[in-house]
Amino acid sequence: MNNSSISGRVCRSIAELDAAVADCFACPRLVAWRELAAEQKRPAFRDQTYWARAVPGFGPDDARMLIVGLAPAAHGGNRTGRMFTGDRSGDVLYAALHAVDLANQPTSTSIDDGLRLTGVRITAPVHCAPPDNKPTPAERDRCSHWLDTEVRLLTPTLRSVVVLGAFGWQALFPVLARAGWVVPRPRPKFGHGAHVELAATDVERTPLQVFGCYHVSQQNTFTGRLTPAMLEVVLSDAAAAAGIDPRRAPVPRE
Ligand code: SF4
Repeated sequence: MNNSSISGRVCRSIAELDAAVADCFACPRLVAWRELAAEQKRPAFRDQTYWARAVPGFGPDDARMLIVGLAPAAHGGNRTGRMFTGDRSGDVLYAALHAVDLANQPTSTSIDDGLRLTGVRITAPVHCAPPDNKPTPAERDRCSHWLDTEVRLLTPTLRSVVVLGAFGWQALFPVLARAGWVVPRPRPKFGHGAHVELAATDVERTPLQVFGCYHVSQQNTFTGRLTPAMLEVVLSDAAAAAGIDPRRAPVPRE
């Protein structure tokens, strides 16, 4: 199933992709869940209007590094409209990105908070908040064409990927194979600190460096399974592999 067969839209740029993702209603269960969360709200956000739509990726359209998570949180990305924005997982992720000079500020609270990333884009294999943070395999597969498109559009610049958690790891490799990278069989196993170099089927194309990292979920960060230092090491390694030099990037620090 290709992009146009689902949405009727062919995306020629990341901006077009982001707009098309936000307009997707293909999964009835997830559409109902994202709207229910927006209706019920958390008490702390009762005065806010939730985004309640699919959440597009966030970051420059010429990113050299891609971070792949799982799916937006019902009261985080589904509320604010931006990946990992407005929840505890995002607090950890953006603080680490700032610590390694890939973000201009350590917090991510709303879509208009001035946050900018350097050379990095953040996305997910499922763009709508799922109940219990668990998309079904059918929902993952239905959403995969968006990641296909995103990777295809980023391919000219993309050099490294950080995958947060086993779900994203499983979802990503078929996408990379379809995008023209050679995925070994058996597939590389997920683990924190895993690192795989994928050759391209086109010998002219640069290999892709894929890194595994525990997900920044509260379950992992509150228990110390994933510490800020562990996350920063993976992000730094992936940025170095992608050839990102944050000191040269024209992103103002706050
Ligand atoms: S999960 Fe993906 S395919 Fe399903 S409605 Fe959301 S954006 Fe569309």
